[in-house]
Amino acid sequence: MSNVSIENVRKVYDGDSEVVAVDDVSFEIADGEFLTIVGPSGSGKSTLLRMIAGLEDISGGTIRIGDRAVNGIQPQDRDVAMVFQNYALYPHMTARKNMSYGLKLTTDLPDSEINERVEEAAEMMGVKDQLDKRPGSLSGGQQQRIATGRAIVREPSVFLFDEPLSNLDAKLRLHMRTELQQLQDKLGTTTIYVTHDQEEAMTMSDRIAVIDQGTLQQIGTPDEIYHQPKNLFVADFVGSPP
Ligand code: ADP
Ligand code: MG
Repeated sequence: MSNVSIENVRKVYDGDSEVVAVDDVSFEIADGEFLTIVGPSGSGKSTLLRMIAGLEDISGGTIRIGDRAVNGIQPQDRDVAMVFQNYALYPHMTARKNMSYGLKLTTDLPDSEINERVEEAAEMMGVKDQLDKRPGSLSGGQQQRIATGRAIVREPSVFLFDEPLSNLDAKLRLHMRTELQQLQDKLGTTTIYVTHDQEEAMTMSDRIAVIDQGTLQQIGTPDEIYHQPKNLFVADFVGSPP
C-alpha cells in the first residue's frame, strides 16, 4: 500500500506566457518512507510539494493521500503538515502560539491536549525553553525547530519539507540533517523532502526522485541513483563516477 501517490500530475501557470512547471509526473511514496525530491532551481519542486499540500491547484492528474484522492480538498483537511524554507512563522506570536495556532483554528481539541502536544514537540526539537519568545528573537536554527515543531503537533500522516535547511549555515545544516532523520525514525511519519542539494538528498533519503524542468528523470534509492543513473542529467546532477 502506498501512502501518497502522484498520478500524471501537471501544473501550468498561466501568465503573459504559459509555464509548464510540472509535466506529467507520476510516482508513489510508501508508508513511512523518507522520499527526497531533488533538482535544480526552477525545476518544479516547490510547485509539486505545494500541490500535494493543497496550496496550489493542479492542472491535471490525481494526487492520493492514504488512498483518498485529494483534488479539491482543503490543505487543513489533507492530513499533511508542511515546513517552509523561510519557516513562515507569525512574527507577532510567541513560538508557543505559532505552534498551537493552527490546531486551535482547525480542530476542536481541548486546550490542555494542544498544550501537551506543543510541549512534547518543543521537547523533541530541543526548544522547550524558547516557547515564550517571538520568532524575531530566535536564531535561524531555533526558528527552524519551531517550524518543524509546528508540523509535529498536527500529528499528520505526511510531513512536507521545502528546503527547510537552506537558510542555515553549513555546520548547523549538517546537524539538522541528522536531527530530521532521527525525528522521522522516531515518529515513522511518511516524509517528502525537497532540496536542491544533492548531498542532502544522498545522505537523508530512503529514495530520491530527481526532477528537471518539471519532468521526473529517475526515482530510486541513493545507491541506484548514484551508481545507475538513467541519463546524463542525473549522472551530472548527483556527480556519479564516470
Ligand atoms: P523549484 O522549487 O524547483 O525552484 P518552482 O516550483 O518554484 O521550482 O518553479 C517551477 C517553475 O514554475 C519555474 O519556472 C517558476 O518560475 C515557475 N513558477 C513558480 N511559481 C509560479 C507562479 N506563482 N506563477 C508563475 N510561474 C511560477
Ligand atoms: Mg522551490
